[in-house]
Amino acid sequence: MKSIAKFAAIALVAATSCQTKNSNDKEFNYVVDRFADIEVLRYKVPGFEELQPRQKALIYYLTEAAIAGRDILCDQNGKYNLAIRDLIENVYTSYSGDKNDAEFQALELYLKKIWFGNGIHHHYSTDKFTPEFSESFLRQQVAELPAEKQPAELDLLCDVIFNPEVMAKRVNQADGVDIITTSANNLYDGVTQAEVEKYYNSIKDPNDPTPISYGLNTRVTKVDGTVVEQTYCIGQLYSPAIERIVDNLTHAAEYAENDNQRQIITKLIEYYTTGDLRTFDEYSILWTKDTDSQVDFVNGFIESYGDPLGMTGAWESIVNFKNLEASHRTEVLSANAQWFEDNSPVDSRFKKSEVKGVSAKVITAAILAGDAYPATPIGINLPNANWIRAEHGSKSVTIENITQAYDEASKGNGFNEEFVIDDATRSLLNDYPFITDNLHTDLHECLGHGSGRLLPGVDPDAMKAHGSTIEETRADLFALYYLADPKLVELGLLDNPEAYKAEYYKYILNGLMTQLMRIEPGKDIEEAHMRNRQLIAKWAYEHGQNDNVIELVKNEGKTYIKINDYDKLRDLFGQLLSEVQRIKSEGDYEAGRTLVENYAVKVDPALHNEVLERYAKLNIAPYKGFVNPIYTPVFGADGEIVDVTVDYTEDYITQMLRYSRDYRTL
Ligand code: ZN
Repeated sequence: MKSIAKFAAIALVAATSCQTKNSNDKEFNYVVDRFADIEVLRYKVPGFEELQPRQKALIYYLTEAAIAGRDILCDQNGKYNLAIRDLIENVYTSYSGDKNDAEFQALELYLKKIWFGNGIHHHYSTDKFTPEFSESFLRQQVAELPAEKQPAELDLLCDVIFNPEVMAKRVNQADGVDIITTSANNLYDGVTQAEVEKYYNSIKDPNDPTPISYGLNTRVTKVDGTVVEQTYCIGQLYSPAIERIVDNLTHAAEYAENDNQRQIITKLIEYYTTGDLRTFDEYSILWTKDTDSQVDFVNGFIESYGDPLGMTGAWESIVNFKNLEASHRTEVLSANAQWFEDNSPVDSRFKKSEVKGVSAKVITAAILAGDAYPATPIGINLPNANWIRAEHGSKSVTIENITQAYDEASKGNGFNEEFVIDDATRSLLNDYPFITDNLHTDLHECLGHGSGRLLPGVDPDAMKAHGSTIEETRADLFALYYLADPKLVELGLLDNPEAYKAEYYKYILNGLMTQLMRIEPGKDIEEAHMRNRQLIAKWAYEHGQNDNVIELVKNEGKTYIKINDYDKLRDLFGQLLSEVQRIKSEGDYEAGRTLVENYAVKVDPALHNEVLERYAKLNIAPYKGFVNPIYTPVFGADGEIVDVTVDYTEDYITQMLRYSRDYRTL
């Protein structure tokens, strides 16, 4: 199950490029570094200063417990990763030659990539990095290191670094080969796929209704010819790192916000101490049920994408706290859900007489670590165990300060200059803050999906393969329609009745044009959200043509979107919402299919090529990640933490070298 949405690439950033009005942001430099296909950003932790001193202390120890696990992931990703990281860092920091030398520059680039990939493979493609410096340069530099820093196994490490055949891919999913022996990760050692599968089949009970997550915290290997699991826990694998995590968790427990949270932390410590996966399940259940604490965290072996068999969890940690202001927003919408339902432009036969909104939880990340660092998700949806989700539910949150940092950082990337028609429209986008994006998401999630009803006897799956496109279209239209409603100003959620125009412009631009940058030439649109956006934008364009609501303007061979009438555009959104709700409520499959096929799937090849070319020239990094803030505790006379300060100034290289120096555990 895909439980943490990995924020992989370009898409959302360009789709939502927009600025905040917050004047404090003017001085904050979001972009930290740019190399290869990577851009490194920093993020703010708004609201940290306002937390109680005890909450800050709790966060401090949890962030220490997070960084302490850094080496675990690096070693899980490959047997020689830590040795190679050490080697390259040693050469890098003791180098005394010309720093403009091409070989040295290439070595620095390689090191930056290793830090970003937590090993010698790309974090996303999992292909091994190709060094652009020579082996002789490296050997010569190693010879100049002090004897104690020269690795005994230099020949082996050079082979791993320079031979493209050796450990070529971290996670190999190819058909028809042994995906264990051909994957370079360190989750299995000296065993074949057949042996691993046979081993797990022998210990799994297919009738167990509450199975443990087999293999989640183990390396599978052979001892005296017998397949065994070695457990990641105190006294076994990764013990020094886990001891340090546990030590910080023990301190954190002293500052827990309530008894429940203390119990959760204590349970996690018990799990790290014993490695017992039953204990991990108990911990996960306690964690899922805790919705009262403001501070929350993930710390453990969680997502299994790094394992071709999808069993072993990559170590990660994210510490966060509830964003009370944003959560207030979703609470206000939920509390007024009935008003929105009653006033929507759909036929009253398709409305719910009693509707309940959903309060989405919005969080602020305080630290990213392990598999969530530097590349990170924008949402968390855990735990992963299916039976726990079914019996006890799950927690699903969005990380708003991370989304905001992506958004802020994108404003200097030239996207708006290239694709937005004129200065007036650009300043519209610049003036209306991030809040309109957030409100769009809130309306979509809290109200849109929950609105409307099926007529009695209508099959909820009547839309078949087009079900999710139609459903996303419905929720988006609900959000777009209400974004322009004075009710939002009345409820205090927006302070400007014109703000919706920025979101309308971006939506149409993205739906008609710029989202095409994610589609390969010659391909159709397949993904449901992309389909729904084009469906809405194209339908509104076509149905507004008599009134010239949306215009495609050509200028020097480039296409631009011009919106001439925002009021009429809102009417069009209302009309389409009414029709899509009818289709869903009546289960009118033919009408749904026709809408999707006419508007959502096909791409104009000329416009598509134009977008791809214009986008490529912007040279926007496909992958992004983050550096963390630095938290420094202030101790009182009795040794208690009385405050924690936060500092955002650290750059990428400094942070990575500091982590390698201060958090080297393995
Ligand atoms: Zn949705």
